Amino acid sequence: MPRTRKMILSFYCDDTSPYTAGAKAFQAFLDFCAEHRITGESSVILGAGSHSMSRSPNKEEQAFLQQVKRAWDCGIDSHMELMTHRGLFDFDANRETKDAVHEGLWLHEPNATVEQYERYFLKIITEANRAGIRLTGLTWPGCGCETCKKRYAALRADGHTEPNPAFWKALLSLAKQGKFRSRTLPCFFGASETKFGIHQKAADGPCAVFDLMPNAKDHFGSYTNKTDRVNADYYLSADGKSGVIARHFAADAPYCIWYSHWQGLNPAKGIGWRAFTTVIERIQQHLRDHVVWMRPSDITNRYHAGGGWSFLDAMG
Ligand SMILES: [Zn+2]
Repeated sequence: MPRTRKMILSFYCDDTSPYTAGAKAFQAFLDFCAEHRITGESSVILGAGSHSMSRSPNKEEQAFLQQVKRAWDCGIDSHMELMTHRGLFDFDANRETKDAVHEGLWLHEPNATVEQYERYFLKIITEANRAGIRLTGLTWPGCGCETCKKRYAALRADGHTEPNPAFWKALLSLAKQGKFRSRTLPCFFGASETKFGIHQKAADGPCAVFDLMPNAKDHFGSYTNKTDRVNADYYLSADGKSGVIARHFAADAPYCIWYSHWQGLNPAKGIGWRAFTTVIERIQQHLRDHVVWMRPSDITNRYHAGGGWSFLDAMG
Protein backbone atom coordinates (compact mmCIF):
# COMPACT_ATOMS: atom_id res chain seq x y z
CA MET A 1 0.00 0.00 0.00
CA PRO A 2 1.39 3.44 -0.84
CA ARG A 3 2.02 5.63 2.16
CA THR A 4 -0.55 8.27 3.03
CA ARG A 5 1.46 10.39 5.46
CA LYS A 6 4.39 12.63 4.77
CA MET A 7 7.88 11.65 5.85
CA ILE A 8 9.90 14.02 8.02
CA LEU A 9 13.35 14.97 6.74
CA SER A 10 16.07 16.36 8.95
CA PHE A 11 19.82 16.15 9.48
CA TYR A 12 22.55 17.20 11.82
CA CYS A 13 26.11 18.33 11.38
CA ASP A 14 28.75 17.56 14.01
CA ASP A 15 32.04 19.27 14.81
CA THR A 16 31.06 22.69 13.46
CA SER A 17 33.54 25.46 14.36
CA PRO A 18 35.25 28.48 12.81
CA TYR A 19 38.61 26.67 12.86
CA THR A 20 37.92 24.17 10.08
CA ALA A 21 36.82 26.39 7.23
CA GLY A 22 36.19 29.89 8.62
CA ALA A 23 33.02 31.79 9.49
CA LYS A 24 32.14 32.57 5.85
CA ALA A 25 31.69 28.86 5.11
CA PHE A 26 29.12 28.58 7.90
CA GLN A 27 27.39 31.67 6.54
CA ALA A 28 27.21 30.06 3.07
CA PHE A 29 25.81 26.86 4.61
CA LEU A 30 23.10 28.81 6.47
CA ASP A 31 22.25 30.83 3.37
CA PHE A 32 21.79 27.61 1.41
CA CYS A 33 19.53 26.09 4.09
CA ALA A 34 17.41 29.24 4.26
CA GLU A 35 17.13 29.55 0.48
CA HIS A 36 16.11 25.91 0.00
CA ARG A 37 13.96 25.86 3.15
CA ILE A 38 15.69 22.82 4.57
CA THR A 39 16.01 22.34 8.31
CA GLY A 40 18.38 20.52 10.63
CA GLU A 41 20.95 21.04 13.33
CA SER A 42 24.56 22.17 13.47
CA SER A 43 26.59 21.74 16.63
CA VAL A 44 28.23 24.43 18.73
CA ILE A 45 31.52 23.64 20.51
CA LEU A 46 32.42 26.87 22.28
CA GLY A 47 35.65 25.52 23.76
CA ALA A 48 36.93 23.85 20.58
CA GLY A 49 39.83 26.30 20.46
CA SER A 50 40.85 25.45 24.06
CA HIS A 51 39.29 28.67 25.43
CA SER A 52 35.70 29.85 25.54
CA MET A 53 34.88 31.41 22.20
CA SER A 54 32.35 33.77 23.77
CA ARG A 55 34.92 35.49 26.01
CA SER A 56 36.95 38.08 24.07
CA PRO A 57 36.59 36.28 20.70
CA ASN A 58 39.00 37.08 17.89
CA LYS A 59 37.61 38.39 14.58
CA GLU A 60 37.00 34.98 13.05
CA GLU A 61 35.35 33.62 16.21
CA GLN A 62 33.18 36.73 16.47
CA ALA A 63 32.09 36.39 12.84
CA PHE A 64 31.29 32.72 13.46
CA LEU A 65 29.25 33.46 16.61
CA GLN A 66 27.27 36.07 14.63
CA GLN A 67 26.35 33.29 12.20
CA VAL A 68 25.43 30.83 14.96
CA LYS A 69 23.09 33.52 16.30
CA ARG A 70 21.23 33.65 12.98
CA ALA A 71 21.18 29.85 12.52
CA TRP A 72 17.72 29.49 14.07
CA ASP A 73 16.22 31.96 11.58
CA CYS A 74 17.74 29.87 8.78
CA GLY A 75 16.04 26.69 10.05
CA ILE A 76 19.05 25.29 11.91
CA ASP A 77 19.05 24.21 15.57
CA SER A 78 22.16 24.60 17.76
CA HIS A 79 23.14 21.71 20.01
CA MET A 80 25.96 21.73 22.51
CA GLU A 81 28.39 19.05 21.45
CA LEU A 82 29.58 19.73 24.95
CA MET A 83 32.22 22.38 25.62
CA THR A 84 35.42 21.04 24.06
CA HIS A 85 34.57 17.69 22.41
CA ARG A 86 37.68 16.59 24.34
CA GLY A 87 38.56 16.92 28.05
CA LEU A 88 36.31 18.57 30.64
CA PHE A 89 36.62 22.36 30.64
CA ASP A 90 37.76 24.45 33.60
CA PHE A 91 35.43 27.46 33.39
CA ASP A 92 37.33 29.46 36.06
CA ALA A 93 40.67 29.07 34.32
CA ASN A 94 39.06 29.36 30.82
CA ARG A 95 40.90 26.32 29.52
CA GLU A 96 40.61 22.58 29.14
CA THR A 97 41.62 20.76 32.29
CA LYS A 98 44.90 18.88 31.81
CA ASP A 99 44.43 15.08 31.54
CA ALA A 100 40.71 15.41 32.27
CA VAL A 101 38.22 12.71 31.32
CA HIS A 102 36.81 13.28 27.83
CA GLU A 103 33.30 14.74 27.84
CA GLY A 104 31.57 12.01 25.84
CA LEU A 105 32.95 9.31 28.12
CA TRP A 106 32.03 11.32 31.23
CA LEU A 107 28.35 11.10 30.20
CA HIS A 108 28.71 7.34 30.67
CA GLU A 109 30.60 7.35 33.99
CA PRO A 110 28.31 5.62 36.51
CA ASN A 111 29.47 7.67 39.51
CA ALA A 112 28.72 11.12 38.11
CA THR A 113 25.69 12.79 39.73
CA VAL A 114 22.71 14.78 38.45
CA GLU A 115 24.13 17.85 40.23
CA GLN A 116 27.55 17.49 38.57
CA TYR A 117 26.05 17.15 35.11
CA GLU A 118 23.59 19.97 35.68
CA ARG A 119 26.29 22.34 36.92
CA TYR A 120 28.55 21.59 33.96
CA PHE A 121 25.79 21.96 31.34
CA LEU A 122 24.60 25.20 32.92
CA LYS A 123 28.09 26.63 32.56
CA ILE A 124 28.11 25.78 28.85
CA ILE A 125 24.65 27.36 28.48
CA THR A 126 25.97 30.51 30.22
CA GLU A 127 28.86 30.71 27.73
CA ALA A 128 26.39 30.33 24.85
CA ASN A 129 24.01 32.95 26.24
CA ARG A 130 26.87 35.43 26.57
CA ALA A 131 27.21 35.23 22.79
CA GLY A 132 23.43 35.53 22.33
CA ILE A 133 23.04 31.86 21.43
CA ARG A 134 20.18 29.69 22.71
CA LEU A 135 20.91 25.98 22.68
CA THR A 136 18.37 23.39 21.53
CA GLY A 137 19.75 20.03 22.64
CA LEU A 138 22.86 17.92 23.07
CA THR A 139 24.99 15.79 20.78
CA TRP A 140 27.25 13.12 22.22
CA PRO A 141 30.86 13.82 21.28
CA GLY A 142 32.16 10.42 20.26
CA CYS A 143 35.85 9.72 20.76
CA GLY A 144 38.16 7.01 19.51
CA CYS A 145 41.23 7.86 21.61
CA GLU A 146 42.94 4.95 23.37
CA THR A 147 41.92 6.08 26.88
CA CYS A 148 38.25 6.41 25.90
CA LYS A 149 38.24 3.12 23.96
CA LYS A 150 39.66 1.21 26.92
CA ARG A 151 37.28 2.78 29.41
CA TYR A 152 34.22 2.26 27.18
CA ALA A 153 35.19 -1.41 26.87
CA ALA A 154 35.53 -1.74 30.67
CA LEU A 155 32.15 -0.04 31.19
CA ARG A 156 30.51 -2.34 28.64
CA ALA A 157 32.01 -5.37 30.39
CA ASP A 158 30.35 -4.13 33.59
CA GLY A 159 27.00 -3.81 31.83
CA HIS A 160 27.11 -0.02 31.37
CA THR A 161 26.13 0.23 27.71
CA GLU A 162 24.03 3.38 28.06
CA PRO A 163 24.78 6.90 29.31
CA ASN A 164 24.43 7.42 33.06
CA PRO A 165 20.67 7.96 33.72
CA ALA A 166 21.62 10.98 35.89
CA PHE A 167 22.67 12.71 32.70
CA TRP A 168 19.13 12.63 31.25
CA LYS A 169 17.70 13.85 34.57
CA ALA A 170 20.09 16.82 34.57
CA LEU A 171 18.97 17.81 31.06
CA LEU A 172 15.31 17.53 32.06
CA SER A 173 15.90 19.74 35.08
CA LEU A 174 17.51 22.41 32.87
CA ALA A 175 14.67 22.16 30.33
CA LYS A 176 12.17 22.71 33.15
CA GLN A 177 14.09 25.82 34.20
CA GLY A 178 13.76 27.18 30.65
CA LYS A 179 17.50 27.03 30.00
CA PHE A 180 17.07 25.65 26.47
CA ARG A 181 15.15 27.18 23.60
CA SER A 182 12.36 24.60 23.74
CA ARG A 183 10.77 22.52 26.46
CA THR A 184 11.70 19.29 24.72
CA LEU A 185 15.29 18.36 23.92
CA PRO A 186 16.51 16.18 21.11
CA CYS A 187 19.79 14.41 21.85
CA PHE A 188 21.95 12.50 19.40
CA PHE A 189 23.50 9.30 20.71
CA GLY A 190 22.62 6.10 18.90
CA ALA A 191 22.23 5.66 15.13
CA SER A 192 20.95 2.80 12.97
CA GLU A 193 19.49 2.35 9.51
CA THR A 194 17.31 -0.51 10.70
CA LYS A 195 16.75 -0.30 14.46
CA PHE A 196 16.07 3.40 14.80
CA GLY A 197 13.50 5.33 16.80
CA ILE A 198 12.77 8.22 19.08
CA HIS A 199 13.34 7.23 22.71
CA GLN A 200 12.04 9.24 25.62
CA LYS A 201 14.72 9.30 28.33
CA ALA A 202 13.14 11.66 30.88
CA ALA A 203 9.88 13.62 31.00
CA ASP A 204 7.75 15.76 33.27
CA GLY A 205 4.58 17.36 31.89
CA PRO A 206 5.40 19.46 28.83
CA CYS A 207 9.16 18.92 29.22
CA ALA A 208 10.96 15.89 27.86
CA VAL A 209 14.37 14.63 26.73
CA PHE A 210 14.71 12.27 23.77
CA ASP A 211 17.37 10.25 22.05
CA LEU A 212 16.38 10.90 18.43
CA MET A 213 18.20 8.26 16.40
CA PRO A 214 19.31 9.07 12.87
CA ASN A 215 18.56 6.31 10.36
CA ALA A 216 20.98 7.36 7.63
CA LYS A 217 24.75 7.63 7.78
CA ASP A 218 27.31 10.21 6.74
CA HIS A 219 28.31 9.96 3.09
CA PHE A 220 29.08 13.65 2.77
CA GLY A 221 32.81 13.31 3.44
CA SER A 222 32.55 12.60 7.16
CA TYR A 223 35.28 13.84 9.51
CA THR A 224 38.06 12.47 7.31
CA ASN A 225 36.94 14.69 4.40
CA LYS A 226 37.97 11.99 1.92
CA THR A 227 36.33 11.15 -1.41
CA ASP A 228 35.73 7.51 -0.44
CA ARG A 229 33.16 8.86 2.03
CA VAL A 230 31.17 10.83 -0.57
CA ASN A 231 28.14 9.28 -2.26
CA ALA A 232 24.99 11.19 -3.20
CA ASP A 233 23.36 7.98 -4.51
CA TYR A 234 23.50 6.48 -1.01
CA TYR A 235 20.78 9.01 -0.10
CA LEU A 236 18.77 9.25 -3.30
CA SER A 237 19.59 8.15 -6.84
CA ALA A 238 19.21 10.59 -9.73
CA ASP A 239 15.93 8.93 -10.76
CA GLY A 240 14.62 9.16 -7.19
CA LYS A 241 13.99 5.41 -7.02
CA SER A 242 16.73 4.09 -4.75
CA GLY A 243 18.83 5.17 -1.81
CA VAL A 244 18.21 5.24 1.92
CA ILE A 245 15.69 8.10 1.70
CA ALA A 246 13.63 6.20 -0.89
CA ARG A 247 13.86 3.02 1.22
CA HIS A 248 12.62 4.69 4.40
CA PHE A 249 9.91 6.40 2.39
CA ALA A 250 8.72 3.10 0.88
CA ALA A 251 8.76 1.45 4.33
CA ASP A 252 6.48 4.19 5.74
CA ALA A 253 9.14 5.30 8.25
CA PRO A 254 8.07 8.47 10.10
CA TYR A 255 11.37 10.14 9.29
CA CYS A 256 14.67 10.02 7.53
CA ILE A 257 17.41 11.78 9.50
CA TRP A 258 21.05 11.68 8.50
CA TYR A 259 24.16 12.86 10.25
CA SER A 260 27.21 14.59 8.81
CA HIS A 261 30.40 16.32 9.87
CA TRP A 262 31.50 19.89 9.24
CA GLN A 263 34.92 18.72 8.01
CA GLY A 264 33.28 17.08 4.98
CA LEU A 265 30.10 19.14 4.64
CA ASN A 266 31.37 22.73 4.75
CA PRO A 267 31.03 24.67 1.47
CA ALA A 268 34.63 26.00 1.54
CA LYS A 269 36.81 22.90 1.89
CA GLY A 270 34.34 20.08 2.39
CA ILE A 271 34.57 17.41 -0.24
CA GLY A 272 30.93 16.43 0.43
CA TRP A 273 29.28 19.80 -0.19
CA ARG A 274 28.52 19.13 -3.87
CA ALA A 275 26.92 15.80 -2.98
CA PHE A 276 24.86 17.49 -0.27
CA THR A 277 23.43 20.12 -2.63
CA THR A 278 22.83 17.40 -5.25
CA VAL A 279 20.81 15.35 -2.76
CA ILE A 280 18.75 18.40 -1.80
CA GLU A 281 18.00 19.02 -5.50
CA ARG A 282 16.98 15.38 -5.99
CA ILE A 283 14.67 15.50 -2.97
CA GLN A 284 13.02 18.64 -4.33
CA GLN A 285 12.66 17.06 -7.74
CA HIS A 286 11.22 13.69 -6.67
CA LEU A 287 9.76 13.95 -3.17
CA ARG A 288 8.85 17.60 -2.65
CA ASP A 289 5.13 16.99 -2.06
CA HIS A 290 5.69 13.92 0.11
CA VAL A 291 8.17 15.13 2.73
CA VAL A 292 8.19 17.76 5.42
CA TRP A 293 11.42 19.28 6.68
CA MET A 294 11.62 19.77 10.45
CA ARG A 295 14.29 20.89 12.88
CA PRO A 296 15.13 18.18 15.43
CA SER A 297 13.63 20.31 18.23
CA ASP A 298 10.39 20.70 16.24
CA ILE A 299 10.26 16.92 15.85
CA THR A 300 10.56 16.32 19.61
CA ASN A 301 8.13 19.17 20.39
CA ARG A 302 5.46 17.81 18.05
CA TYR A 303 6.06 14.18 19.02
CA HIS A 304 5.81 14.94 22.73
CA ALA A 305 2.76 17.20 22.40
CA GLY A 306 0.93 14.60 20.30
CA GLY A 307 2.10 11.57 22.25
CA GLY A 308 3.42 9.94 19.08
CA TRP A 309 3.57 10.39 15.32
CA SER A 310 -0.16 11.04 14.80
CA PHE A 311 0.57 14.70 14.01
CA LEU A 312 1.97 13.46 10.69
CA ASP A 313 -1.45 12.17 9.62
CA ALA A 314 -2.85 15.68 9.92
CA MET A 315 -0.10 17.10 7.71
CA GLY A 316 -1.59 15.36 4.66
ZN1 LIG B 1 38.77 10.30 24.21
